[in-house]
Amino acid sequence: MITAEMVNGIVRFQANGLPVVSLYCRVDPGASQREVRARVDSLLDQIRPLAKDRALDHRYRLSVRADIERIKDALGSERWRPGTVAVFSCSGRGLYEEIPLPRRVREQVMVDATPLARPMLAVLGEYSRACVLVINREAAPVWEMYQDEMREVETVTDPLRKAANTGTRAEDRIQNRVDEQAKRHFRRVASMVGQLLRADGYDVLVVGGHEYELADFLRLLPHELRGRVAGTFRADPVATPVAEIRSSAEGVMRHYQREQDQRLVAHVLELAAAGGLAAVGPPDCLWAGSMSAIDTLLVRDGVTLVGVVCDESGWLAASGDICPVCGKPTRYAPDVLDELAAAVIETGGSPRQIAADLMPCEYPTAAQLRFPPPPREAGPREARPREAGDSQP
Ligand SMILES: [Zn+2]
Repeated sequence: MITAEMVNGIVRFQANGLPVVSLYCRVDPGASQREVRARVDSLLDQIRPLAKDRALDHRYRLSVRADIERIKDALGSERWRPGTVAVFSCSGRGLYEEIPLPRRVREQVMVDATPLARPMLAVLGEYSRACVLVINREAAPVWEMYQDEMREVETVTDPLRKAANTGTRAEDRIQNRVDEQAKRHFRRVASMVGQLLRADGYDVLVVGGHEYELADFLRLLPHELRGRVAGTFRADPVATPVAEIRSSAEGVMRHYQREQDQRLVAHVLELAAAGGLAAVGPPDCLWAGSMSAIDTLLVRDGVTLVGVVCDESGWLAASGDICPVCGKPTRYAPDVLDELAAAVIETGGSPRQIAADLMPCEYPTAAQLRFPPPPREAGPREARPREAGDSQP
């Protein structure tokens, strides 16, 4: 499972003068291990000269050489899931991490002073990391949930201490005392969760419990934490099996994610309709992307579009042999929307894949912009994007 510690460890990694190798390799569905190995090998070819370059510091060369060996070794022993695998290695400082990404990312390899984490973060950013908590008056186990995986983080327990039964209104006093203890427990849990959310990169909180206790607990949450509750479900920290807690929490997250996506789509389409900073449809989105104007790109799940890319100026379009921006010949791209997503990441924006039923068919792409791009001349024929279910032309 990809944990917050792993991701934070990469982002905050200090190489102190040594090089970090970052490699993104695609794993196509059904690809054999040999095919993946060939792809990685050809990516590594791009950095092999660095391991031999006498102009570079000896320790630098040694580290790169060890990174190349390590990545090659890993390939011999592992089988990666379809999508992309991101590898970060700095042998001289003991870093080696493989992060499987659930979708395709542009292939690349880079040697730099810091890890190339941005493409990884952009993909991971499409999935919320949830802190799942199940609470009653005495116990509160906490899990980290991410991309359908869940692991226990910690448990806060405050066993109720029963007071000795003295005096006439003992029952009431015991009840008050128990309430006080439960309140203290809820506060302790709230502060622990607050710390987790601040420090470990959680996006949202999912809370399970008995209805009457949930209400008390949520009331005690500080305002900013309450705003991050994605949803609640019924459960008991002791009696409910973990598998059931997990499936309830997943249900809450699915619902939450869909609502977020729906809101985002509505927002961008409204913005476009009002003539605001937005672009809809591939021609305008490709043009805005070419001008580095995209802040958030929405792509309907399963849509691909054949097109062209100019590697010189970053111009993207559905067709054209010569780039109108710089006059250089273009390169064929089997899926120019994929190139667009990569370009958006590189210019600091974020691409999001949206469930097909949440995005209107007539707009397979939409984007929120940072600034209005210069006007675009409409091409002679604008290609129709292909949906996942379409038959081959
Ligand atoms: Zn160009």
